[in-house]
Parts: sequence; structure tokens; C-alpha cells
Amino acid sequence: MDLTGVRFFLGDIVRLRKPHPCGSTDWEILRTGMDFRLRCTGCNRVVMLPRTQFERSVKAVVRRAAADEMDRAEGR
Ligand SMILES: [Zn+2]
Repeated sequence: MDLTGVRFFLGDIVRLRKPHPCGSTDWEILRTGMDFRLRCTGCNRVVMLPRTQFERSVKAVVRRAAADEMDRAEGR
């Protein structure tokens, strides 16, 4: 999956390259910005990651929280 230029939104579910110790690889985005706050969908642990590290860690977007809003915002 090519994630170049992909924007992330609150409520999106993303898959990270490295599994959490609980075994889950999917995380819900709770906050975006300079730092991203993520909640593990397996154990509900919340972590903070700098944006650059987050972008390197994401393997795929599992579910878009608001795909329609995103399309409108980008004028499509
Ligand atoms: Zn976990």
C-alpha cells in the first residue's frame, strides 16, 4: 500500500508494521497533529507517537472513519 501523501483522521483504524505485545496490529487514531495518539484495538492501551515515526510505522489503513468528508475536503 502506497501511503505517500495519505492523510489520517480521527477514528481511522490503521495497521502498524510491528505488532503490539498483546498481538494486535490495528490501532484507532485518537489524535492527529505533530504527535499522534493511538489506541490499540486489542488491549485498549493508548500510546503517543511523533508524526514522523507514526508515518514510518503504518503499513495500511484498515478503515476510514470519514471517507466522505475527506473527499469533500479535497474537492473531489
Ligand atoms: Zn495491544
